[in-house]
Amino acid sequence: MLGSSPWSLRVTDDWPEPVAGSGQVIVRVGGVGICGSDLALLSGTRRAPHYPWVPGHEAFGEVVLAGEGVDRARVGQRVVIEPNYPCLKCPSCLAGRTSMCPERVIVGFTAPGTLASLVAVPAAFAWPVPGDWADTDVVCVEPLTVALAAIRRSGAAPGDRCLVVGTGSQGTLLCAALTARGITPYVLEPREGRRELAVSLGARAAEPDDTGFEIVFETSGAAAALTEAVTRAAPGATIVLIGLGGAATEVNTGLVVRHQLTLRGSLIYDHPGDFAAAITSPVHAPGRVLRASYPLEQASEAFRVASEVPGKTWIRLA
Ligand SMILES: [Zn+2]
Ligand SMILES: [Zn+2]
Repeated sequence: MLGSSPWSLRVTDDWPEPVAGSGQVIVRVGGVGICGSDLALLSGTRRAPHYPWVPGHEAFGEVVLAGEGVDRARVGQRVVIEPNYPCLKCPSCLAGRTSMCPERVIVGFTAPGTLASLVAVPAAFAWPVPGDWADTDVVCVEPLTVALAAIRRSGAAPGDRCLVVGTGSQGTLLCAALTARGITPYVLEPREGRRELAVSLGARAAEPDDTGFEIVFETSGAAAALTEAVTRAAPGATIVLIGLGGAATEVNTGLVVRHQLTLRGSLIYDHPGDFAAAITSPVHAPGRVLRASYPLEQASEAFRVASEVPGKTWIRLA
């Protein structure tokens, strides 16, 4: 769990065990992936509602208990957790855009996270996954679903010329997902290690004169990256923004107008369609984006290296 000062992570065995509420299951967590948003919480640039706090949201495990109203047959299922619980009643939810729900519970940020032995999860947000999927692939399902939702919203189709700007773990998973959908993406990434990882997953490094991209995914949130995205887009292109940079940034609006570009934000995924699609139409071995794994006892070390190594880091629980 996390103390109130930055990087004050410690492993404890005195945290209260969760109780399965009505409609919930208890999941024994098998592993948790580390994401940039978790690092923001650890470094103190993002704040938890209170401290101490349990971080983590990219998790898989096994159902060990079914609460009231949940089919007992779910006990023993291997599941991946969808860590955003929309209200399912507001206009956004009723329109199918649950990612925009103002009441959305964000596990690890507005509700305690999944970096714990046992967690209580609404049954509909614990998705069964095949037993023969490797742990390394299952731990990537949540961030992979973010990538797949961005591709769905982009309208990209096989044969489209696509560019991915920034190949941190999200950009790299996008490359894996695009390749699985029959698209060979070009990538633009200044850091050599990250670029090479994306290329090893089937992407192609963009040259300085590579332009005319029909679909561009901007994953970094950096101002210079948005300039590249707009400059390299083809007339009529769609630019999907995934990076949560947060800072105000300049855009060459003349180019956006002349080339009639569409700028579109893409935030997480919509329940239940995107998770269902990620599981029923799997991407081959997304675990290839993982570069480091640590046991729970070394969680602090895992978080420290997660910001440095290309690809993704994850924590194994017993
Ligand atoms: Zn994440
Ligand atoms: Zn809602």
